[in-house]
Amino acid sequence: YEAKQNRSGWSMFSERNIQCGRQRLKLRADLDDALSERQIKLHYQPKVSLKDGHIIGVEALARWYHPTDGLLPPAHFIELIEQSGRVQEFGRYVIANAIEQLDLWHQQGLFTPIALNLSPYNLLDPSLLDFTLRLLKNHKIEANKLEIELIESATSVNIEYISQSLNNFKEAGIKLAIDDFGTGMSSLSYISNLNVNHIKIDRSFIDGIEQDIRKQAVVSSVIMLANSFECEVIAEGIENKSQSERLIEMGCLYGQGYYYAKPMTAENMQAMLQADAALPL
Ligand code: C2E
Ligand code: MG
Ligand code: MG
Ligand code: MG
Repeated sequence: YEAKQNRSGWSMFSERNIQCGRQRLKLRADLDDALSERQIKLHYQPKVSLKDGHIIGVEALARWYHPTDGLLPPAHFIELIEQSGRVQEFGRYVIANAIEQLDLWHQQGLFTPIALNLSPYNLLDPSLLDFTLRLLKNHKIEANKLEIELIESATSVNIEYISQSLNNFKEAGIKLAIDDFGTGMSSLSYISNLNVNHIKIDRSFIDGIEQDIRKQAVVSSVIMLANSFECEVIAEGIENKSQSERLIEMGCLYGQGYYYAKPMTAENMQAMLQADAALPL
């Protein structure tokens, strides 16, 4: 197969190659090294206050620095991890890396919270919370510096089944967000069952929101809904000024997207936090 670089610098496999079973088998075999040699690293994207552009937190996004195939986005390996029985190992890997990063940033006087993505399967691991709390304690990090972003799984992990586990995280002080809100069938059941800190509106509702009054209506309703649950809305995938302005008019306070900053290495994120530069309004 050949790896191609597209404009954003990803190694992209051609459509044919993505479907190629051999490629998948190869990547699956490579997963051992990915975790043991720490080839998977966390990049960070800022979440900003829309009104003043200040960074309110960062989201950790996994990238695989593959030794021969280049930089691989999560779309190329998260599913493989889930299918290969390593989902618990990977969840712990991401948590451990994020907490180490919080520690490094604390040592630099930077106290920005980190949100990380977990698969709903991770909440089936009964000792994940203990694992997380132990690491937080060892690194002397407050639990409220960590947030878990959870998507509705396409599979059958049941919200009622994992809500006890999520509530335990919440009670320990760890923050919760519902990711890609609006894309799954059970979004409403999620927020009626859980006391979450943030609702992240999926970027499909932000794309075109400048002109599309139906999308505006959906987003306004989510903002109202969130207000009544006392949680905050974060708009995902803001790519231009007019989207940002529209969202501000609608009462959305926080956002994330290429207009502000793309995901970047931990080093670049640190430099941006140190500069404490307000991002574009
Ligand atoms: P997500 O958590 O909803 O993350 C947002 C995705 O949107 C990221 O893609 C980000 O790079 C991209 N994005 C941000 N701003 C914009 C924008 O303005 N326009 C566009 N078009 N895209 C934008 P990425 O990094 O490829 O991640 C895709 C998904 O993979 C994530 O969606 C998340 O569900 C999953 N993922 C990423 N890291 C992890 C991880 O460590 N563990 C697990 N379980 N899943 C992860
Ligand atoms: Mg996310
Ligand atoms: Mg999302
Ligand atoms: Mg997503």
